[in-house]
Amino acid sequence: MQEIETDYLIIGSGAMGMAFADSLLTESKADMVMVDRHAKPGGHWNVAYPFVSLHQPSAFFGVASRELSRFEKDKVGFNKGLYDLASGAEVSSYFDAVMQQTMLPSGRVRYFPMSDYKGEGVFTSLTGGQETRVRYKKLVDATRLTVDVPAEHSPAFTIAEGVNFMPLNNLPTLQAAPEGYVVIGAGKTGMDACLWLLQNGVAPDAIRWIMPRDAWMLPREFAQNSEEFFVDTFGNQANQFEAIAEAENIDDMYDRLEKAGCVVRFDQNIRPTMFHAATISRPELNALRQIKNVIRMGRVSALEVDKIVLDDGVLETGPDIVHVDCSASLARTMVKAAPSPVFEGDVITPQTIRSFMPVFSGSMIAYVEAHYDDEDEKNRLCNVVPLPNKAEDFVPMTLAAMMNQFNWSQDKPLRQWVRNNRLDGFTKLTNSVAPDDKEKMDILARMRDNAPKAVGSLMKLAEQIDG
Ligand SMILES: Cc1cc2nc3c(=O)[nH]c(=O)nc-3n(C[C@H](O)[C@H](O)[C@H](O)COP(=O)(O)OP(=O)(O)OC[C@H]3O[C@@H](n4cnc5c(N)ncnc54)[C@H](O)[C@@H]3O)c2cc1C
Repeated sequence: MQEIETDYLIIGSGAMGMAFADSLLTESKADMVMVDRHAKPGGHWNVAYPFVSLHQPSAFFGVASRELSRFEKDKVGFNKGLYDLASGAEVSSYFDAVMQQTMLPSGRVRYFPMSDYKGEGVFTSLTGGQETRVRYKKLVDATRLTVDVPAEHSPAFTIAEGVNFMPLNNLPTLQAAPEGYVVIGAGKTGMDACLWLLQNGVAPDAIRWIMPRDAWMLPREFAQNSEEFFVDTFGNQANQFEAIAEAENIDDMYDRLEKAGCVVRFDQNIRPTMFHAATISRPELNALRQIKNVIRMGRVSALEVDKIVLDDGVLETGPDIVHVDCSASLARTMVKAAPSPVFEGDVITPQTIRSFMPVFSGSMIAYVEAHYDDEDEKNRLCNVVPLPNKAEDFVPMTLAAMMNQFNWSQDKPLRQWVRNNRLDGFTKLTNSVAPDDKEKMDILARMRDNAPKAVGSLMKLAEQIDG
């Protein structure tokens, strides 16, 4: 068995592992070994469907040291007028460039793709078969949030022989129009499958959409981090704090958030029970609302040639109907992802420490690792923000994120580092407001005044969940 030595053994070269390694490279002199089963860095983006894109702007995705955005607003399509969303191919080639142009040339990163980590410092090459033992000072488990994607997962339902079934990855391989489509799942991939079908000439009535749960979603219009969108983006933040501050219970909180435009849903008559932080533009939402055959009969348990068995009933189907799998579930991913402290002895487990921002989180965890010694202090600064799944999870997620934000604001060097990190996206904009710009200053004042009230309210709302 080959033996090698390093300071940090990093398992996983997905977005989280790459963001961590990139910032550790900048912030320290450490040596690193990265191991991943995939042939290239980028994690699940290696096997994403051909028409995937980011759902948040490229401007704050990737790693800290390299730009991903073209800073161009889309001129056509469902994202028209908003900043660019990198396609899957762009994300993959970006991470490849980070590895080839930055990490490997540094001489401080050795990369072992196509390698399966077995534990105890040992990994096996999936191609050559040889085993390598790594003697390390710290192990970085960047696999905690490993994403389940349709191309790689096994659906949680049976599929009979002869059923016309495919992951959404295969939709572009269709050679003739089928009689209709059944899209299974209503998360980000389900929405993408429906939007792709609609964009490619499928009539809304030809789509049946199985939606086990409705979701609260975030408008992409308010996730734009440029000067031009300041009033929209930070106005939305101020509205959110106000809505939360005044909420009497969780339904009331969502009603207020919706009224202020901070969250949206597919159907005004159905109260969502899910929140996965999917981000959607107004034109996407309008397009999806054209689909009237939305099946709310629970989850699929069996696909048969002529029928679909669901928790709450049976639907007719047929061999010329394409069943599109979009059921890879965040909920199942989350079972693997029960939070643990980020720093525990010689193990670092990068997780989200700011809501919706895994790569910023990976980057900041590396900064804290490089510049702080005390483990309790490191964990206080990098307190895990739990991933949301159910609607009420918005409360503990937002509470943890706001507490972290407060702790960071008390630490001057950290505050400055956050502001200058491209993955942070937003703080720099708030610092550049001219004192005589009344409209913007008023928004910032509303944010400042309502943040502590929102935290107090979230604490009370959290008690209602526990009770
Ligand atoms: C369709 C879609 C769109 C998204 N859009 C955005 C967005 O716009 N903005 C945003 O911030 N987030 C977005 N996300 C969230 C996204 O998942 C994360 O941003 C990020 O890509 C997740 O990276 P990760 O490294 O945590 O996980 P992964 O990409 O799953 O990487 C984990 C890696 O660990 C490796 N691994 C696991 N176990 C082992 C082992 N034993 N040995 C070796 N290697 C191992 C895997 O091979 C994999 O490469 C999106 C997600 C999806 C599905």
